[in-house]
Formats: sequence, C-alpha cells, structure tokens
Amino acid sequence: MSSGLTIVYTGKGKGKTTAALGLALRATGYDKKICMIQFIKGSWHYGEMDSTKKLEPGFEMVAVGKGFVGIIDDKSPKEDHEKVAKEAIRISNEKIQSGKYDIVILDEINYAVNLDLISVADVLKLIKSKSDGLDLVLTGNYAKDEVIEIADLVTEMKEIKHPFQKGIKAKKGIDF
Ligand code: ATP
Ligand code: MG
Repeated sequence: MSSGLTIVYTGKGKGKTTAALGLALRATGYDKKICMIQFIKGSWHYGEMDSTKKLEPGFEMVAVGKGFVGIIDDKSPKEDHEKVAKEAIRISNEKIQSGKYDIVILDEINYAVNLDLISVADVLKLIKSKSDGLDLVLTGNYAKDEVIEIADLVTEMKEIKHPFQKGIKAKKGIDF
C-alpha cells in the first residue's frame, strides 16, 4: 500500500487541467475511482464533461458552476462566484471524506483562492483531512505558498508560447 500524494499543477502556461485529466485517464486503466470537482468553470462547455461520462462509474465529474448557469459569467457579482466556490468546498469535503475515491481532483481551486472566493485555510483543511491513501490533485495558477509547502508534488507550467498571443482563439478539443 503506497500512501496518497498531494499534487499541485500551477503556473501561467497551458496544461494544468489537461495534466490532471491525463493522470486520471492513466489511473482509470487500473480501475481507480476518481472524482473531479470543477470550482469556477462557469457556463462554458468542456469536452471532459462528456468524456468522463464514458468512463463512469469509475470517473465522476461534478461541475458545481453548472447549477448556477446564468449567474457565473464574468458580469455576475462576486457573491455569486463565492456561492459556487463555497458549494464546491462543501462537495469536495463530502467526496474526500466519503472514502469512495482513490483520486480527487479539485480543478481551478487555486484560482478560487486567488480571487478571494474561498480562503487558503479552507484548502489546507481539505488537504489535511484527506485519508492516507487518497491522491489529491489541485489545479490553477497562483497556488499559495502554504499549499505548495504542504504538497508532495508541485509542477509549474511555464508558458513559452501560446496561440492566444497570435490571436488564435480557443480550440475545441484542445482548449475546451
Ligand atoms: P488546460 O485546461 O488547457 O489544461 P489550464 O488548465 O492550464 O489549461 P486554465 O488557467 O485553467 O489553464 O485556463 C483554461 C483555458 O485558458 C484553456 O482554454 C486554456 O487553453 C486557456 N489558457 C491556458 N493558459 C493560457 C495562457 N497562458 N494564455 C491564454 N490562454 C490560456
Ligand atoms: Mg484549468
């Protein structure tokens, strides 16, 4: 029995959520049970919302923002974003404590902290409460020092180039 890791994908470059999904896909090959919770996805549709359905029941996706469609675009007030982030924390806690999963992914949680929607203390509490065997993945740029400190694996995505710089828009299947 190996003990679980706390894994952080942060940095400006593209690939943080993709890395978490890649890790999950690998683990699915060993019939690991995975839950991914999306913290601040808003009303966009992402391919992984459907691909994970194909991997059910092993891969469960919880798009918290989805229940709040209409209020979580950029123009909506901060309280609405806060509501989503706080609900995501509540669900994350439930999933982490359930003992049902081998891997829990908290997608974009670092942004939620950076935007002051939740506190870093909320995140540290989740990390500290996890059972020994659980692998916990946190994504999003601006990971706080305290989170980096407590994590076992931290990768910073470094942007060298991004098509966005050339004015190329987000691409289906690559970006969403
Ligand atoms: P991905 O989901 O593609 O792995 P990510 O998780 O690293 O990206 P996020 O900060 O969550 O990046 O942003 C999500 C969206 O923003 C994606 O469509 C992604 O392509 C785009 N994006 C990521 N990094 C950059 C960047 N440096 N410049 C412009 N757009 C970016
Ligand atoms: Mg992301």
